[in-house]
Amino acid sequence: MSETVFSKIIRKEIPAKILYEDQWSLAFEDIHPQAPTHLLVIPKKPIGSLAEATQEDKELLGHLQWVVAHVAQLHGLSASGYRVVTNIGSDGGQSVPHLHYHILGGRALDWPPG
Ligand code: 5GP
Repeated sequence: MSETVFSKIIRKEIPAKILYEDQWSLAFEDIHPQAPTHLLVIPKKPIGSLAEATQEDKELLGHLQWVVAHVAQLHGLSASGYRVVTNIGSDGGQSVPHLHYHILGGRALDWPPG
């Protein structure tokens, strides 16, 4: 997988508002928020997208889902609810080829998405 802006955030070469970090993952605020709360959760392992995850990544994927729920709870989103999205490839609207989960909350979100 090629170098992305998220690799630089993981290495702290560019700034980000980091909310949670452990040896496998990082959560930070999205630079262009699409909702009052818009956070990103990423693995430190450079996986291009969910479609590129392998059997070997199953435990990591489970951990990332726990981080999503944990960070959402820390932000007080659990009671009102929120949306978790991972965009994959061009039709999915993915712009950064490093697996990431968007956490969107703080307002009612439309369904279906555009
Ligand atoms: P995607 O379109 O790939 O699903 O989502 C990529 C997200 O990364 C976008 O919401 C975009 O705003 C965010 N993003 C891109 N570059 C940066 C950056 O340098 N810092 C932060 N915090 N977010 C970024």
